[in-house]
Amino acid sequence: MNKKPIVAGNWKMNKVPSETKIYTDTILDLVGHVKSVSVILAPPFTGLFEMSVEPPFYSAAQNCHWEDSGAFTGEISINMIKDLSISYIIVGHSERRQIFNESNDWINKKVRSIITNDLKVILCVGETSNERKSGETEIVIKNQIEKGLKSISDISNVIIAYEPVWAIGTGDTASAKQIEAAHSFIRNTVRDNYDKRNDIHILYGGSVNSTNAKELIQINGVDGFLIGGASLDANSFASIIKIVDLV
Ligand code: PEP
Repeated sequence: MNKKPIVAGNWKMNKVPSETKIYTDTILDLVGHVKSVSVILAPPFTGLFEMSVEPPFYSAAQNCHWEDSGAFTGEISINMIKDLSISYIIVGHSERRQIFNESNDWINKKVRSIITNDLKVILCVGETSNERKSGETEIVIKNQIEKGLKSISDISNVIIAYEPVWAIGTGDTASAKQIEAAHSFIRNTVRDNYDKRNDIHILYGGSVNSTNAKELIQINGVDGFLIGGASLDANSFASIIKIVDLV
């Protein structure tokens, strides 16, 4: 791998703010010295206030609204996130697509706004189990990428996370062959639409843990991980960071 890998932890709706502080202190104690990996921590919005980290550690929001302000009860704007010195925003996670019915159109509005605000976006894409079974994996991913990145000319602040929906939180990791094929397809799709010199990070997500991380990080085209469940325990997340740091 010639890029610095990224290990990102998506806590979803877990941990109260006081736990965030304890977790962050533990992680920095355990792996604060790493040099060859960037680590992104994505607590819930309330936890972001308690998270103060420095590179190669970064914090991320799990969602945002694309408008700067206005009558959008319950939403958080990119301005608000930026004001907390947060560098990354996750967009298009399958839980947001499925549970909250987020469309590619909404996702694109968020991505465009994030890029305009000079923040970095982690755009999640991935097929459901039925879509894979019916041979639609590539169509779905292509559609999510092309619609998600529509009207964006500079993708240097874009990271794509390939997260097969059937592998998220199930303990059912995609095989090395499936991951390699999907990452290569994603890279080619990006290259078809943008300057070929773009070499963006493509992360894998879906039941990554401290036992399978070593094998998964060595798959061709995998530039790091987006991790849900195994990021909630500081010790297990630190083990994964150490593994990736050594590759
Ligand atoms: C995720 O939610 O992005 C994820 C990959 O979850 P898990 O690691 O638990 O499968």
